[in-house]
Amino acid sequence: MLERRRSSSFVLFWFWGFCTSCATPSHAPRGAVAPGRAAARRAADAKSAPPAETCDYTVSAPREAPFVVSVQARCTGGSVAGFTPTEPKIAPFVKSDGAAGPSGVFAAARVAPGVAELTYSVDLDGVARRENEIDYARRFGRSLLAPASSFLLRPDPERDDVPIHVRFASGGIESGLRREGDAFVLVSQELRVATYTTFGPVTTRDLDVAGASVRLAILDGARALPPDELARWVADAERGVSDFFERPPSPRTLVVLAPIPGLHGVLFGKMLPASGPGVVVILGEHAAPPELHDDWILVHELFHAGTPSFVDEGKWYDEGLATYYEPLIRARLGWYREADLWREFLRNMPRGLAAMTRRGLEHPAEFSDTYWGGGLFCLLADVEARRVSGGRLGLENGLRNVLGHGGDASQVWPLARALEVADAALGAPVLVPLAAAHANAGAPLDLPALFRELGVSFDASGNVNLDDTAPLAPVRHALVYGSPPSAPVTP
Ligand SMILES: [Zn+2]
Repeated sequence: MLERRRSSSFVLFWFWGFCTSCATPSHAPRGAVAPGRAAARRAADAKSAPPAETCDYTVSAPREAPFVVSVQARCTGGSVAGFTPTEPKIAPFVKSDGAAGPSGVFAAARVAPGVAELTYSVDLDGVARRENEIDYARRFGRSLLAPASSFLLRPDPERDDVPIHVRFASGGIESGLRREGDAFVLVSQELRVATYTTFGPVTTRDLDVAGASVRLAILDGARALPPDELARWVADAERGVSDFFERPPSPRTLVVLAPIPGLHGVLFGKMLPASGPGVVVILGEHAAPPELHDDWILVHELFHAGTPSFVDEGKWYDEGLATYYEPLIRARLGWYREADLWREFLRNMPRGLAAMTRRGLEHPAEFSDTYWGGGLFCLLADVEARRVSGGRLGLENGLRNVLGHGGDASQVWPLARALEVADAALGAPVLVPLAAAHANAGAPLDLPALFRELGVSFDASGNVNLDDTAPLAPVRHALVYGSPPSAPVTP
């Protein structure tokens, strides 16, 4: 598990690194605009009231390979002169009736005053043959998976907050984009991180979890388990996450399961947040229930949907929350023994010490700084929240407050706001002072003493001991199961 987490974390970290580096104000998910720039734009808008610009994309694709996707893009009310590949790697696979200029922009036809149109196609099978990664396009059996950035060209010149409507004119397409009426919607700066779409044969299930919709799409390929059993796994995981947040993290989530022939277990996962959450989990053909419930990836990715996204900061908080809470949620689901959970924390929380005590969480030197540095931050914050509230409240109460204020993964928040809104529900500042101590520089902390107070230790044989007479044993119980401890906790 350790190795798997390490190797998978590499890819997850890389993704968010990529996402952050590309997420300049004009390229980031919804709301990802530098505050000063947003204020300036609002002031300018108030004076000049530019014409309302909107863009509509109509997407058609064959039900079977080869998946050459045809798109008609039309923008009205603005100054769009052309369209350019959102993902540069697809450029060789785009054909269009508009000539591509030296900058790679396909010139749009001016079909009426203020109306720019381009008809183009993208050979997603060609992209999949060259890249074979879900960041661009990847075939699974007779089906294909791609993010929207691989087939939606972005309007040029770029503007923020332009509403985009996407309509799929052919069947056999599943998309995680946010649905409104007959269209899927996003705003222009979300194009680069817009979520996944599937093409070709998939097996689908509609799952109602806590009043929210989970659209399950199982890509083509041999698999040991029937769809209904996989659907139960996904629904139970989503229910665990919804129970944690006391509400669904999103009204609609696309979960794509992608089987790989000949392999066992859960292999890889990723969530793209805009404009709705889309989770992809790659699993082996032979994946069976014990492996599914023992694995961390699905719950980790579903959890991300319930917290805000951050740009150029806070990656450690984003990943730390998911790293810390995934095992706790699986314990609450009955999928993870408490002793195994503490074994994982005893082994891995020390991997966060360098970031917390020396480098500062915002200055990671290796992947564990982000994941376990952030996880250790969350453990300390959770314990402190229990201490100051006499055991009544935990960090989870703060996170519920953030989600209640609209802070889901499709929204980009300043880190300071996420910490302050969480603290507001805890009755005392917990996260803000802890981040002030550890985000930009290291500060000392005594992790062995904390584990001792919680009553968690390894014995001489390497087994985990849980001591119910330890001073913070009631807190330990509350951390794992979320219920108030039976006895008041002395700060
Ligand atoms: Zn993650």
